[in-house]
Amino acid sequence: MSETKVVTCIECPRGCRLSVSVDGGAATVTGHACPKGEAYGAQEAISPMRTLTTTVVAEGAATRRLPVRTDGELPLGRLLEAMAAIDPVVVRPPLRRGDVIVRDLLGLGVDLVATDDLVPATPSATAPLAASGIAGAAGTTGTAGTAGAEGGRP
Ligand code: SF4
Repeated sequence: MSETKVVTCIECPRGCRLSVSVDGGAATVTGHACPKGEAYGAQEAISPMRTLTTTVVAEGAATRRLPVRTDGELPLGRLLEAMAAIDPVVVRPPLRRGDVIVRDLLGLGVDLVATDDLVPATPSATAPLAASGIAGAAGTTGTAGTAGAEGGRP
C-alpha cells in the first residue's frame, strides 16, 4: 500500500509543491519542474537529510561560542544524537573559518567545521602557545580545528 506525502522543494526559490507517493522503498514524485525537485522529493520522503548548524563553547576567545556546521548532510533522524556528541566540545583560538572541529561526526562521513574565525580574547592570552607551536596551527585548513578542539567541557 502506498503512502502520499506533500513536500515543498527547497532546491530553489520557486518552491514547487511536490507530491511524493512512497510504495515500499520506491518513490514516485509529481509536481516538480526540474530533475532536482524529483530527486529532492524522493530523498525527503524516504530518507530526509539535513545540514546541522549550531554553535560550540569557546574558551579564551573573544566570543563565548563559535558557530559551526556540518560540511554535508546527515540523516534527519540522527540530528539529536549529533547534537549530543557536539555538546561537550570546547574550542580554543586561534581557529579559522573552515577548520575542522569534529572529524567524521558519528562516523557519517561529514565533518563539523567552523563557520567563523575564532580569535583570542586578548593578544597576550595565546602568545606563549603560539610561540611554542601548540596553537600555531592557524591557517592550516582542515587540521587546526582538530588541534583546537577537545571533548569534555568542565
Ligand atoms: S522542482 Fe526544480 S524548479 Fe521546482 S523548486 Fe525544486 S529545484 Fe526549483
